[in-house]
Amino acid sequence: MNFIQTRGCDKNSPQSVTFSQAILSPIASFGGLYVPENLPNLGKEFLNKHINSSYKELAFDMLNRFEIDIEKNVIEKALNLYDKFDDSSNPVPVVKVKENLYISELYHGPTRAFKDMALQPFGVVLSSIAQKRGEHYLILAATSGDTGPAALETFKNRANVQVACLYPDGGTSDVQRLQMVTENAKNLKVIGIKGVFDDAQNALKKLLASTDFKTALKEKNILLSAANSVNFGRIIFQIIYHIHSYLELVRQKAITMGEKVYLNVPSGNFGNALGAYYAWKMGLPVEKIIISSNENNVLTKLIKTGKYDLRDSHVVSTTSPAMDILKSSNVERILFDLFGYERTKELMENLESKNFYELNADELTTLQNSFDADFCNGDEGKKYIKDTFYDNGYLMDPHTATCMKSYETCSNPNIKTIAYSTAEWTKFSPVIANALTGEIDTEDLKALVSISKEANLKIPDIIKELFTKEIVQKTVIEKEDIEKEILKFL
Ligand SMILES: *Cc1c(COP(=O)(O)O)cnc(C)c1O
Repeated sequence: MNFIQTRGCDKNSPQSVTFSQAILSPIASFGGLYVPENLPNLGKEFLNKHINSSYKELAFDMLNRFEIDIEKNVIEKALNLYDKFDDSSNPVPVVKVKENLYISELYHGPTRAFKDMALQPFGVVLSSIAQKRGEHYLILAATSGDTGPAALETFKNRANVQVACLYPDGGTSDVQRLQMVTENAKNLKVIGIKGVFDDAQNALKKLLASTDFKTALKEKNILLSAANSVNFGRIIFQIIYHIHSYLELVRQKAITMGEKVYLNVPSGNFGNALGAYYAWKMGLPVEKIIISSNENNVLTKLIKTGKYDLRDSHVVSTTSPAMDILKSSNVERILFDLFGYERTKELMENLESKNFYELNADELTTLQNSFDADFCNGDEGKKYIKDTFYDNGYLMDPHTATCMKSYETCSNPNIKTIAYSTAEWTKFSPVIANALTGEIDTEDLKALVSISKEANLKIPDIIKELFTKEIVQKTVIEKEDIEKEILKFL
């Protein structure tokens, strides 16, 4: 299968590219993104065939139907990384928490958040492509917390790739920082920036666009790539778990095969939700996809009013920081799918030049046929965590909690919901400790111990060990010195 471009094709790039090419240079003509030319239709036959399959068997067959230019043994090797999850026979448990509400837990991987679902196999795929082409890549990542640890974890000690990961010093949680600065591998460099996440992100964008930097890399025989969430190499692995979660409900006899469900997704850059949308288009029985946000509620406004409006908005810090995003990149792929490349180019160019676009009435109706949305603020989130769920025996993180508001406001209670849980309680412990006991902790360790006592839960060894592990990545620099520091590392 080939990949085409969301804003059409300029004269400088090919009409369509292979999967490998789309992975290696994810930005397309006019600043657009790559999308599959068509999606495989899986239909009922596929779902019935996999009713008793393991996660890996389902994933392998689904990826095969995409007919991507990746060898079968590489795909197998990539999927084997799900064996490292808590339960290798079922890396994504789906748990009933209420009469009509099921939670699909996407956080059982090595860094305890959902980024592992895609980045774990992606690391194997990217490294294999690089080896096959005899090329060496520098992967740049800027992180506010979850992507960095997951990217380092997947690329560590892999051939033909080096990673430079930028994080705002003081701008991540203790656990997230420790997950990065204790990573000890020759091909990884972690750099703390004296600044905020936007400084790290802007520095990264500048480097990606800099010809001087690319020339300096070329002299060292290194090419540049990025592992950000617009990379289709990540998206493709995010279709699988939606199908798996549906089949889990059938296996648990919660639904009959063919019965429609809501998929409720805590959203930031819209990768998770896009995976849900593609799964639906490929034949999964879905009633609607519900987009949950925090106070940074641009997506709620888009889906309710058709307006994507950033004119007076700035990002606010919330208790669900992985969703503190205003430019939600993967929405572009939905626009393309619903309205075509010409309209997508027009809308995205409006967003870039005027910080605003507006869908017409027909377009809004089309969007609303697939999506509904609501947002949840931090105080409401804490109530869901404590009163609604913890008091009834289920502990969830603040990102997952944003789904509980939209579950109440957007869904017909007679239709079952799969909501996605994107982080373990260990990743955002101060917020959760505060919700459970009212205490205000500034340190993760204190909060972890306190939740562990209160809820009688064991702190997983992977998290506990972080606090005694040697810190090996000690670089913290001014943002002006990033380029020099990276070249020194290479
Ligand atoms: C990245 C992330 C999200 C948002 O996912 P998108 O695919 O970017 O919409 C939600 N929760 C957590 C914990 C995350 O790390």
